[in-house]
Amino acid sequence: MSGVIAQANAPSHSHESPEFNPQISAEARFDQAAALLKIDAGLQKVLRAPAREITVNIPVMLDDGRLEVFTGYRVQHSLARGPAKGGIRYAPDVSIEEVRALAAWMTWKCAVLDLPYGGGKGGVICNPAQLSQVELERITRRYTSEIIEFIGPEKDVPAPDMNTNEQTMAWIMDTYSMHQRETTTAVVTGKPLNLGGSRGRTEATGRGCLLVTLEALKLFNWKPEDTRVVIQGFGNVGGMAAKLMARTGFKIIAIVEWDGAVYNPNGLDIEKLMRHKKETGSIVDFAEGENMDRFEAMYLECEVLVPAAKENVITSQNADKLRTRIICEGANGPTTHLADPILRDKKIFVIPDILANAGGVTVSYFEWVQDRMGYFWSEDEVNRRLAERMVESFKDVVNYAGKHKVDNRTAAYLLALDRVQFAIKLRGIYG
Ligand code: GLU
Repeated sequence: MSGVIAQANAPSHSHESPEFNPQISAEARFDQAAALLKIDAGLQKVLRAPAREITVNIPVMLDDGRLEVFTGYRVQHSLARGPAKGGIRYAPDVSIEEVRALAAWMTWKCAVLDLPYGGGKGGVICNPAQLSQVELERITRRYTSEIIEFIGPEKDVPAPDMNTNEQTMAWIMDTYSMHQRETTTAVVTGKPLNLGGSRGRTEATGRGCLLVTLEALKLFNWKPEDTRVVIQGFGNVGGMAAKLMARTGFKIIAIVEWDGAVYNPNGLDIEKLMRHKKETGSIVDFAEGENMDRFEAMYLECEVLVPAAKENVITSQNADKLRTRIICEGANGPTTHLADPILRDKKIFVIPDILANAGGVTVSYFEWVQDRMGYFWSEDEVNRRLAERMVESFKDVVNYAGKHKVDNRTAAYLLALDRVQFAIKLRGIYG
């Protein structure tokens, strides 16, 4: 695997400007909400700092016999409301700041959805595109064994995130189970269906985006058929959101990816586009759409924009160019904190990430529940419960926004912080 050594321990993303440091965005929003809630200064310190951060340097033998060391992290931001919960991502630019922000967002997300969890996140600095399946398996197993005393169904329950999937979860589950000397499916979620996975988990994040967008449409009195959607990202979240939205009648006029965008003002045939991407490796040059510059596509006039890829997509530099009425944040942290006031001035209705993309962790919760009782629900049952939770949480956030006269994102943070601080106060401080 040429190039792996150079890539393996590449310095983490330097986040050129503080605006692009996700930790700064996460803390800015926290500080704003904590001030509005008048949370006691000491308690603010407790809520702001991660409870535990683990860094591991894992030696892994590559296929060609060379030994390499990869750096991995697991951050448990809060354990106040239950075990930590959150995904593990594999990418060359993973950094501790990014994982810290993502872990805090999981705490707030689980609280907004009222799931009995804290928040956590993990990451390994590696380039999965340059690693074989066997190398990925070795990295995953060694990473798991290095953090093994900190994870478990009652401690911290990882899940898939960028560049990890149900196979990764199966390896983690197996490694953990070998050490426990018993099969423990509830240690991770997002597993394959026949290994304790839940029906509906793969689609859950995309389905959640659809559900909250439908709720927003009701407020605007719009019908899906009259709603033009631009989706940035065509992976598990963006692809699934596109497919489910298209099936519901939305007009998906553009899909934007890292290597280009495709546009069709009459609506793209998403299932055909998925086949095209599978065959060619890219969305560009699709027969039933025009290629478009990926930045221009983000600024198309539309009713709904779904950023469903990475952090730092909507920034202080481009927020004023957007021509959408609703933003549904499928990704974690796609909007920087400096873009928030611009979106507010433009009166864009933002469905914040900690609500919009919570469908995934909600079905993860259902998976964990099903594993622990050893009885599995039908897909309809999972989807019915998911819809119930997402719609209820959407209404909670919008009502909070109305009551406190703040935007939706601030409302979601207020709701979450209130729930977490309540748990900490009830438990009290030990020691
Ligand atoms: N990685 C997903 C997220 O960011 C899912 C986490 C989970 O299911 O625990 O919400």
